[in-house]
Formats: sequence, structure tokens, C-alpha cells
Amino acid sequence: MNASRAEFIAVGSELLDPWHADTNGAYLSRRLGERGIGVGFRTVVGDTREDLKGVFRVALERSDLIIATGGLGPTIDDLTREAVAELLDLPLILDERIARSIEERFRRLALPMPPQNRRQAMVPRGAEVLPNRLGTAPGLWLGSGRATIVLLPGVPDEMRQIVEDSVLPRLPATGERFAYRVIKIAGLTESDVDRRLDPVARDAGAVAWTILAAPGQVEIHLRERVRGAETPAGIDRVDGAIVAILGAHVFARDQETMEEVVGRFLVNRGDSLSAAESLTGGGIAERITSVPGASRYFRGAVVAYSDDVKKDLLGVRKETLEIQGAVSAETAAEMARGARRAFGTTWAVSATGYAGPEGGGPDRPPGTIFLGLAGPEMETTRGLTLPGSRQTVRTRAARTALDMLRRAVLGVGG
Ligand code: ATP
Ligand code: MG
Repeated sequence: MNASRAEFIAVGSELLDPWHADTNGAYLSRRLGERGIGVGFRTVVGDTREDLKGVFRVALERSDLIIATGGLGPTIDDLTREAVAELLDLPLILDERIARSIEERFRRLALPMPPQNRRQAMVPRGAEVLPNRLGTAPGLWLGSGRATIVLLPGVPDEMRQIVEDSVLPRLPATGERFAYRVIKIAGLTESDVDRRLDPVARDAGAVAWTILAAPGQVEIHLRERVRGAETPAGIDRVDGAIVAILGAHVFARDQETMEEVVGRFLVNRGDSLSAAESLTGGGIAERITSVPGASRYFRGAVVAYSDDVKKDLLGVRKETLEIQGAVSAETAAEMARGARRAFGTTWAVSATGYAGPEGGGPDRPPGTIFLGLAGPEMETTRGLTLPGSRQTVRTRAARTALDMLRRAVLGVGG
């Protein structure tokens, strides 16, 4: 078979509602990518015979390998095998081996077999049966026509077992794989990054380039087809070009997070950290402590939500709160200074602000925040007005506070 262009179809009306995500597709993209097989399309379709036939009809026109999951169950709304058989004009034939193994499965569970389970033993003529060790519906491999169609159960564990045991071994060995890299960028907006990296993106050649924005961070996703264990030379080149332009804005690669990077720096220097949090309500501490081994550098945090706690536990001056206000650069500075003193740490970060939807008057709209950083012989604050929902503002504030710390530790300022 030729598998230069693969396509995935997620079957299930529940996948069209807001609560169920198609996770099978991401898994298959990864496993096929490791074989150098690119997925050109991913479709979600409900359990409707005509819609199913329509989606498979289109897929047959444009793809060499079509993998679908879901709709192989025993119930009346499980229509995938019927729709595909009809489309390919293949009769459905009872497969005695499957029928027996389903019966046996019910016997072992000491349950009577409902008659509709025999539907799962119906197989389009010529299909190869891919055994399902974890459930009743086996996978089906239809290799005849122009394209190969693989039908798999929707249950993620069952689907994965069949893919690992029976689908991957049947795919042609291309000797190739996709190499991936994620480059994480802080302190710039998506449009800044896009503009500054435009020449790199244009010159990326065979390296596929995607830019993604998350609150307080921008990611560049790179993908390259390479042979076997070969290092991805194109990705390395693009990575180098990105760093040449963005410098210390690049803070991590792949799975690594801001809090891990900060933690690594602090451990290497033997430094310690504390936090004083109003706006983020413990979000900074939560991030820091999500990293294993954070106790080596993180001493603690004060969630100083009220003015009294800012005064009594952190030593923010009454006059500062009255004159500058709780949401001010001066309060952020005094909070960080107070935490550094109270916890006896090398560094302390602080965050205060209006997360929204309420603001603090005409010159303090929602999203107005101040971050503070106190360290050895240095203090700095940053005022920002962040767009977005309450949660987005809080997430960005926590990430930006950690980035301020990262930059100070690195000595790159900004
Ligand atoms: P079964 O034989 O168990 O009935 P099936 O092939 O009929 O399998 P479905 O009934 O469509 O599969 O789905 C079974 C379960 O798997 C459901 O809980 C469904 O939400 C989940 N599921 C189906 N498709 C996906 C998908 N693409 N990603 C994640 N979960 C899925
Ligand atoms: Mg089902």
C-alpha cells in the first residue's frame, strides 16, 4: 500500500457536542508521524448513515490511508461498518470466528449475550479482522481498492491496543519519521513574534511551521520529515535562526515549562524564592510547586488579598495603600520586599491588580496589574494592562512574574 497521505475520521455524535474531545486523532497523528506518515485531514462526524457515507466518499478521493474510530458497537446508532460496506458496495458477511469470540467473552463474564451483539461479527467481504483483546468489536482492515480503510472501535484503550498490535505492523516501513520541536517564547505578543520571525518562517523550507498563542506565551511548532535516527538538521537550523532574532525571549523547548526553567536556574545558583500574591491568589506558588523538587528553592508564599494582610504580614505601608492604592507599582514593590524579608529568600516575586470584570476606576481598567521582583541589590516592578478574561489575566500575570524572575537571574533585564 501507499500511505503518503493519511486521513482520520472520528465517528460519534457525542464528539460534536461541547464536552467530548476527539483524543483518538491526536494519538494517531503522533503514531503515524513517527512512521513518517502525515495526516492531511481530521474529520469528526456524527452517527448518521448518509453523513458517514459522505465523509468516507470524500476521503476515498483524496487519501491513501483512511483510519476511522467509533461506531463499531452493537447498538443501532453504530453505523460505521454498514456505511462503509454500502459505499464500497460490499456485502456484510457473518464472521463465525468473531461471533464465537464475542459469545465466549460474554460466557467468561457470565452474562447472556444480547442478540444485537452479533452485528459486531458482520464483516464487509474481503476485510481482514484485527483482534480486539480488550473489547468485543474487532478492528477491520479493508485493503482492496485504491485506498486502505481501517475501522477501529472508539474506546481509546481498545483502539490503541489494535493500532499497536495490528495496524502499525501492517503499515509500509518508510524508514522515515517526523521530528517535532516546540519553541516557547515569553514577553512578546503573537503578532510581534509573527512579524519578527517572518523571514525565518519564509525560509523554513521543508520544516513545517505553526505559531500558537497561549496566555503569556507564544509557541512555534516545527515539524520535519527525517530518515530513521537522523537528527533534524532543518529544525536545528530554524531553531538557531529564531534564537538569533529573539534571544532570551526563547525560554524553553518541547515539554519544558517556565516554572521548570526558573527552578533549574535557582537550583544551579543555590538561590531561594518566595512570593507575595494578591491578584494571582496563590497561582504563582501553585506553578512553582508543580515542579518536582521545588522544595530545594521555594520557601513559601503569602496570599495577601486584603489590605490588612498586605500591611500586617508583608509590611506594606499604610500610606502606600492609602495614597498609591493596593494596585500600584509601589505596593507591588513593597509586597516583594516584604516577602523577601519575611521568608529570608534570595528572590521574591509579587503580583497585584484587577483581574476583572471590575476595574478600579477610569485610569485603572480591568486587567491593570503590577508585578514586583526583589532580589540581591535589585528591585524592579512592571505595570501592564492585560486584555482577556479574569482567568487569562491571572494566568498571564503569573507567567509574566516568573519571566521577570528568569530574566533577572539570567541578567538579561527587560
Ligand atoms: P463499542 O464497541 O465499545 O461500542 P464503538 O466503536 O461503538 O465501541 P463508540 O461507541 O463510538 O465506539 O465510542 C465508545 C466510547 O469511546 C465512548 O465513550 C466515546 O466517547 C469514546 N470515543 C469514541 N471516539 C472517540 C475519540 N475519537 N476520541 C476519544 N474518545 C472517543
Ligand atoms: Mg458504541
